[in-house]
Amino acid sequence: RILLTTVLNQQRESIKGIAITIQDITREVELNEAKSQFISNVSHELRTPLFNIKTYIETLHDYGEDLGIKERQEFLQTVNHETDRLTRLVNDVLDLSKLESGRNYSFDGVDLAQAIEQTLRTYQLNAKDKCVELIQEVAPNLPFVVGNYDLLVQVFGNLIGNALKFTKAGGKVAIRAYQLDSKPNQAQSPPVRIEISDTGIGIATEDQHSIFERFFRVENRVHTLEGTGLGLSIVRNIIDRHRSKVHLVSEVGVGTTFWFDLAVFEEQAAPVVVEPNTE
Ligand code: ADP
Repeated sequence: RILLTTVLNQQRESIKGIAITIQDITREVELNEAKSQFISNVSHELRTPLFNIKTYIETLHDYGEDLGIKERQEFLQTVNHETDRLTRLVNDVLDLSKLESGRNYSFDGVDLAQAIEQTLRTYQLNAKDKCVELIQEVAPNLPFVVGNYDLLVQVFGNLIGNALKFTKAGGKVAIRAYQLDSKPNQAQSPPVRIEISDTGIGIATEDQHSIFERFFRVENRVHTLEGTGLGLSIVRNIIDRHRSKVHLVSEVGVGTTFWFDLAVFEEQAAPVVVEPNTE
């Protein structure tokens, strides 16, 4: 779309000149449309748990005495679940808007072994409950990478959380980190590759590019109350900020691997500040 601005330089009734500015505002229009779509999606997603909470509380208030204790407990449990869902949604929306707000994050040398260890500690119990084996393979003496520690922990958490969610009992979820081999005549150190793989339900080829879109969730029976459809948008946004790209390979019924590369932190390099992604 094009915005035409004309400026007439008028002097004593005679036109001295016309200046025409042609500006391509396609991107601006697209961004505004995406923002409105996002707000409408968020409102829609918030409305469902709010409606459920209100209905259950009203029922408990009006008919609580007629209900059995088991039923009352079930109602309260649903209210509790729905409140958790609201909290997750609000947190994810806040994270995403913080990432897109233009805020500068500081980038430094990150010890991946420590970031992975910290993430896995929070998921160990979840994996045990689900009888899924959680495997960690971090190459020894891995160099530090250029990154933001907290953002990377969030990426690992989102990807491992998903991997556990979509993997059945008896399956495996693994996180690997290793440095790639250097290519001939390569001046810089080769990057570090991080892979998060699972033996879960897999993602059909036609859905593989859509899963990074906000609120996109593959239609399947595994859908529980957990999840907001924002986790992978956050992952993509953070990895973009690390000037890298998230890739995936997946096969339905076999499993999924997400991977990305991170640049090695060279001590003498100046601190890096990565500009926000305006997408
Ligand atoms: P959600 O909160 O629903 O997990 P995400 O943005 O993290 O949202 O993921 C979007 C969708 O991508 C999920 O709902 C699921 O359908 C699919 N997905 C993500 N990770 C996996 C995985 N490891 N295995 C199978 N499907 C996945």
